[in-house]
Amino acid sequence: MIDYIKKLDDVITRIEAARKLISGHHIVKIVAVSKYSTSQEVEALYRAGQRAYGENKVQDLKLKMQELDEHPLEWHFIGNLQKNKINHLIDADPFLMQSLSSYDLAQELNKRLGIKEKKMDCLLQINSALEESKGGVHPDDATDMYKRIQDECEHINLKGVMSIGAHTQDEALIKKSFDTTFDIYANLEDATICSMGMSSDYELAIAHGSNLVRIGSALFK
Ligand SMILES: *Cc1c(COP(=O)(O)O)cnc(C)c1O
Repeated sequence: MIDYIKKLDDVITRIEAARKLISGHHIVKIVAVSKYSTSQEVEALYRAGQRAYGENKVQDLKLKMQELDEHPLEWHFIGNLQKNKINHLIDADPFLMQSLSSYDLAQELNKRLGIKEKKMDCLLQINSALEESKGGVHPDDATDMYKRIQDECEHINLKGVMSIGAHTQDEALIKKSFDTTFDIYANLEDATICSMGMSSDYELAIAHGSNLVRIGSALFK
């Protein structure tokens, strides 16, 4: 049996140290990524004090939301959204959709939200590492696209940006990818969330301005 209180304490201790190096006022939110975990494991981590969770598949999000609906959990969608799953995601009504990864997807999501008379809080995903395997908009296009989505998509509330750090051992490249995203974030008016950092790189992400980390294996394994 995993000691979830200890896992969470360890992560919180490391986040505290990293965020205080920036400022005592720099608050960092933890989203626990439960994509490889069962609802029982999520429940155990919830009892240890963790409320926000992220899933990368719409089906899994819906299932865990249903299985755990007696608890006041906050659900984030963090995966690649296929167009044929948009209506399912709208019905699930997550707290935050972090992976709005193209202008096309924003248009389609906005249209379906309009039909259902709903709104959704979203982050624009930026492919700052410029890796083909990753979703997200090109950093050069991100600022214009952010503003266009804000202007044109009245059912989408953009709250900020999300990136996955460069997939490499080269720390300089990982830092560079975080800096790219943070610079875009810092120049946006009204953006409040800069989601960067996973189990392997969250302290580095915080050092480079992240205020939301998405942590899976460090909490669940
Ligand atoms: C899986 C995943 C995470 C968490 O990854 P870990 O390395 O297990 O912490 C974070 N963000 C996204 C988008 C993911 O798909």
